[in-house]
Amino acid sequence: MQINELKQRLIDAGHILENAGQGDLTRGHVSIRLPNDPTHFIMKPHSYGFDEITLENIVLCNLEGEKVGGGGRKHSEVYIHSEIYKARSEINSVIHTHPTYAVALSATSQALEPISQPAVAFADGLPYFNDAIDLIRTQDLGRGVAKALGFCKAVLMRNHGAAIVGQNVEEATILAIMLDNACQIQLATMAAGGIGEKFTSEQVQKLHHDITRPEQYVINFEYLRRRAIRTMASS
Ligand SMILES: [Zn+2]
Repeated sequence: MQINELKQRLIDAGHILENAGQGDLTRGHVSIRLPNDPTHFIMKPHSYGFDEITLENIVLCNLEGEKVGGGGRKHSEVYIHSEIYKARSEINSVIHTHPTYAVALSATSQALEPISQPAVAFADGLPYFNDAIDLIRTQDLGRGVAKALGFCKAVLMRNHGAAIVGQNVEEATILAIMLDNACQIQLATMAAGGIGEKFTSEQVQKLHHDITRPEQYVINFEYLRRRAIRTMASS
């Protein structure tokens, strides 16, 4: 994939995440590892919204979290990305956002229960990062987030947000949206009196397999990309 094609994927992901309400002003960020140079990644710039990423302001960083190119400023929480890329060689995209329902569930310290389709996507584990409420502004804190994440798809950062990963930006983006939906459904369920009868773990595992097939992420990313383009055209 050419670099401009990769940058366009980052721009598309930004529009999708903004439309999904994941922006939290300018504080969310998304990155993609370079396929031909796994020690570098491109990332949304600081001070801009998810829907304001351009070919020019995208930041190029290395695995030490240093900016080595691009027009924008780097996010101080770049270490969430660099340390996860160091720890997980198969991961090529990282998203960090402060989605409302994920933050709310994280404040309860409850585990995410497999009681909806989006929640089942995380049936292989949704750990917590409890070390700090602060911004992840050091390599040490970033390493802590990567360690808490382990080999899972996402980690809830208590009272702060979430870090979500994928083998590509399509997977990370769709999982970020599914995570917030899953948390919203669980909070609504608890508010309505609590969880009722559950399906067996075998049934949950089968659905987990079906719902996390790689093509599912691409199909849904493409749908949301087309929808973002229609929204921009009509505004
Ligand atoms: Zn944050």
